[in-house]
Amino acid sequence: MQGKPRIAVIGAGLGGTAAAALLQREGFNVRLYEQAPAFSRLGAGIHVGPNVMKIMRRIGIEDGLNAMGCHPDYWYSRDWKTGEVIAQIPLGDYAVSHYGATYLTVHRGDFHALLTDAVAPGTLLFDKKLTQVEDLGDVVRLSFADGTVEEADIVIGADGVNSKIRETLLGAEPPKYTGYIAHRAVFPISRVKGFTHDRCTKWWSDDRHMMVYFDTGKLDEIYYVTGVPEPTWDMSKSWLPSSIDEMRAAFDGWHQGVQSLIEGTVEVTKWPLLERDPLPLWSRGRLVLLGDACHPMKPHMAQGAAMAIEDAAMLTRCFVEAGLDDFGTTFALYEANRAERASKVQRVSHENTWLRSNENPDWCFGYDVFEVPLVEPAAAAVPASPATAATAATATAAA
Ligand SMILES: Cc1cc2nc3c(=O)[nH]c(=O)nc-3n(C[C@H](O)[C@H](O)[C@H](O)COP(=O)(O)OP(=O)(O)OC[C@H]3O[C@@H](n4cnc5c(N)ncnc54)[C@H](O)[C@@H]3O)c2cc1C
Repeated sequence: MQGKPRIAVIGAGLGGTAAAALLQREGFNVRLYEQAPAFSRLGAGIHVGPNVMKIMRRIGIEDGLNAMGCHPDYWYSRDWKTGEVIAQIPLGDYAVSHYGATYLTVHRGDFHALLTDAVAPGTLLFDKKLTQVEDLGDVVRLSFADGTVEEADIVIGADGVNSKIRETLLGAEPPKYTGYIAHRAVFPISRVKGFTHDRCTKWWSDDRHMMVYFDTGKLDEIYYVTGVPEPTWDMSKSWLPSSIDEMRAAFDGWHQGVQSLIEGTVEVTKWPLLERDPLPLWSRGRLVLLGDACHPMKPHMAQGAAMAIEDAAMLTRCFVEAGLDDFGTTFALYEANRAERASKVQRVSHENTWLRSNENPDWCFGYDVFEVPLVEPAAAAVPASPATAATAATATAAA
């Protein structure tokens, strides 16, 4: 490649924005293209574990995020009816001493804004919906809905579950609807009466759950996200409004802690939970994928964005260690060092068992993308689909 390679990142979600910030810190020439005209503070929270906080440290926003977020002392799992604590996973000071970074929960929009500010001014271009990508061999041509055309040497598809880059690599195929939806609501804690909530609790029954946590350091705002069976979903809709009545029906008979949240709700929306089986490839030619573009998952480990951000960090590491001249080799190294972990998180998320009992989460929270020894492509394991792997795991356990 002559001169400094131009890297185009498509999609300024958490994965794409992290990629741009990390690549810039290593001196790469990056542009970030986003279809949305602007970002707003959508009603959702997010967990940020030590595995992600170490990447935020590298970007330079660890302190800002620590100041912004809520620091749960434990992840509690509780029984839906009795409220009994069925698991208690230490976070707080334990996370700092054991994993070397904090575990926090935060408003997703606040986190995204902080990360976006870490990208150099002029890098992020809004209103740039990619409509076509052509790998011409020596360069990639990008066409946008506004009629503009740009060129890049490398294109990173961080464009989410309906990725245009994935479609270009593998053909059009909608993601799979899992048969579950997630209700999401954020509102002031002052609206919640009759129950004192811990900082982070998941309420479980056999077929549904409600995850609840504060999303600010001031503990003035609370967030819940559910997983509820729903046989069908109109795939033309990315979300729909829900209602307090719908929540009352879905959680009829549940503990007072859950009822207190439903009654305090201001506005609630519902989202389909989507997945894809592991892709046969993550790159071809000058195009490479990360995050939901290549491994969308149920959010039940609260690690979907974490996997996108870890991908961004590993891809940057591979660019630094293996260079960009032979990008095919670099992309193979990246995939070899990400596919197995991303698929494991996809599978456990699919099973929805994470931290329901007092299991050891070290393999997930203790991962350091900058320190983990790299494996060569030939040595990497081939991942199975989330559902197939879950069935196989059950069969093995039963045998
Ligand atoms: C209910 C729910 C709760 C969740 N909770 C958590 C949690 O607590 N912790 C966690 O880690 N994860 C969580 N996740 C998962 C997480 O939201 C996703 O895994 C994560 O957002 C994926 O990041 P991404 O950057 O790969 O994709 P996205 O966040 O989807 O970003 C893709 C970006 O690309 C843009 N784009 C798409 N197409 C184009 C185009 N053609 N041209 C230009 N731009 C384009 C989009 O506008 C978007 O900004 C949750 C998910 C759900 C549904």
